[in-house]
Amino acid sequence: CGVMGVYRNTMDDVAQMVYYGLFALQHRGQESAGIATNDGNMPYFHKGMGLVNEVFNDEIFRSLKGNIGIGHVRYSTTGESYINNAQPLVVKYRRGSIGLAHNGNLVNAPLIRSGLEDDGVVFQTTIDSEVIVNLIARYSSDGIPTAIERTMDLIKGAYSLVIMTEGELIGVRDPHGLRPLCIGKLEDGYVIASESCGLDSVGAELIRDVEPGEIVIINQEGIRSIKLNKEYKKASCIFEYIYFARPDSVIDGVGVYQARKNAGEILAKEHPVEVDMVIAVPDTSIPAAIGYSEALGIPFSEGFIKNRYIGRTFIQPDQSMRELAVRLKLNPLRSNIIGKRVVMIDDSIVRGTTSKQIVNTLKRAGAKEVHVRISSPPVAYSCYYGIDTPDNKQLIGAVKTIEEIRQAIGADSLGYISPEGLKRSVGIANDPYCTACFCGDYPLEIPLR
Ligand code: 5GP
Ligand code: SF4
Repeated sequence: CGVMGVYRNTMDDVAQMVYYGLFALQHRGQESAGIATNDGNMPYFHKGMGLVNEVFNDEIFRSLKGNIGIGHVRYSTTGESYINNAQPLVVKYRRGSIGLAHNGNLVNAPLIRSGLEDDGVVFQTTIDSEVIVNLIARYSSDGIPTAIERTMDLIKGAYSLVIMTEGELIGVRDPHGLRPLCIGKLEDGYVIASESCGLDSVGAELIRDVEPGEIVIINQEGIRSIKLNKEYKKASCIFEYIYFARPDSVIDGVGVYQARKNAGEILAKEHPVEVDMVIAVPDTSIPAAIGYSEALGIPFSEGFIKNRYIGRTFIQPDQSMRELAVRLKLNPLRSNIIGKRVVMIDDSIVRGTTSKQIVNTLKRAGAKEVHVRISSPPVAYSCYYGIDTPDNKQLIGAVKTIEEIRQAIGADSLGYISPEGLKRSVGIANDPYCTACFCGDYPLEIPLR
């Protein structure tokens, strides 16, 4: 998911700015979108299924009054994809209202939820985020920031939050920093967004990332911060760099584009190949393919034309839709490929369906050889922290060897970047990343099933 929050101290309406931010964060989720605002007296909100530009229009913007606003784009990890589960959640509690938008997955939400239900609390959605809102409301007697601290003592997992009250915009990042969250400065206020591309879209300047375990509070007085006392191991999601984030974003000081390009260069050193042409599976793999091409001095060219009007395929919740989407999305550029030996760079193999389909497509289009290089190690463990990888059993990297995968996808050769190579691509030696989907070393416990 993607989250965005805007606070303007000039009292101008912010709904449109939140919208532009969500527009830039659309790649993080395409199932539903929502914006909630507050004008100091009361909250307003609108949510709908679909893309950001399908959900909002001018009339809706006029109804979303206020100088504080938050927004959300969703793809479902926990909780089904239907309108009730769309965010932001807006609730009234004894002292006012809270709006909340959440990116990530809690690992202990069911446990907390059943405890609250035993106390008679009722829930309207099936999402983790409602558990968080309930806890904050429950502890609100000493003010919302304290309530958030108490809530953070209980909830475990991945959460980057933007929270709105009558007078404040608050950003929260979980103690491991699993999901990204950054702060930008406007002339008359502040912005909090999942990725820096969301700040760029509203002309805000990136000042820094929200730190793991930090609560950032923005109001008329400016910006202040609360840090949790306890130190946790930083484990921000390395998959953000490989695939999930937009290449023009900078996360925790590391540019996503450069990280991808580095991965391509390292991949070239680890698994070189003699071919006529390097191609990418657009768009995510383009930087890695350029890095691969430059490192070996083999020309980079386009092998596919991508239909830009189709969303990200893995975000389609079911398998047959996913396969159809790949076909509609990627068409081979026959004139470029025919008779050539190509190496195709992709960012990841998850189930193996995409790779199999597109290797086959390239061969049918006349490629003489199709070699595949992957800029992440085999995905062999499920993610429980907000990236929707399927069960282990469906992960081809969990059930097959590399040679078996090569055969399954029909490639002439297959090479994955090593885990060490991947870590080097993001350029940090002291290992502050979660790499659990490749290595199985989960930074915090995984949910009981
Ligand atoms: P596959 O067909 O192997 O399941 O999907 C692999 C493709 O999905 C890759 O080309 C990649 O672009 C995209 N993908 C990247 N990250 C993820 C992820 O976390 N989950 C899933 N299911 N697909 C992803
Ligand atoms: Fe990211 Fe993988 Fe860790 Fe999930 S398990 S947070 S996808 S690195």
